[in-house]
Amino acid sequence: MHYPEPISRLIDSFMKLPGIGPKTAARLAFHVLTMKEDTVSTFAKALVDAKRNLMYCSQCGHITDIDPCHICSDKQRDVSTICVVQDPKDVIAMEKMRDYQGLYHVLHGAISPMDGVGPEDINVASLLGRLHDERVQELILATNPTIEGEATAMYISRLVKPSGIRTTRIAHGLPVGGDLEYADEVTLSKALEGRREL
Ligand SMILES: [Zn+2]
Repeated sequence: MHYPEPISRLIDSFMKLPGIGPKTAARLAFHVLTMKEDTVSTFAKALVDAKRNLMYCSQCGHITDIDPCHICSDKQRDVSTICVVQDPKDVIAMEKMRDYQGLYHVLHGAISPMDGVGPEDINVASLLGRLHDERVQELILATNPTIEGEATAMYISRLVKPSGIRTTRIAHGLPVGGDLEYADEVTLSKALEGRREL
């Protein structure tokens, strides 16, 4: 279909977002035309500001508007524990829970030989640097329960073992409300592995 140039440019822009195909992009673009001009301006400014004012924390790798981030610079946090995650979104999920008081380290990915991602391609070196701090006693490896996430947790655990710092892996189990018969093998075996005394 042939659209006027400004519309096709807008459609192309929306298609750069994850999960947005040509149909949805066209629907969004035409919706923008019906919006008030100041609403559109606020939206455009929010996009530019987010990109311009956000950075990665130089200590933990989380997204932040100040460096070090709010979590790393919070004196109330327990510096003896670092929770290692793959993505900034995982930090946000953990923080929502409000149970965890330690620090974080964001890897920005996981080791995946199939995709050519090695340890040097993720944020591992800076994690090792942080372990020189004598106050660090435990690394909680909270990478995803996927083949890549497991491999990454295993890799870091082996690397850290000689330093005497404790490495733990979060237990992965069945989702609440899930049905045992529909769980895949990995989930089930992890659920079994992570079982506790009742
Ligand atoms: Zn930080």
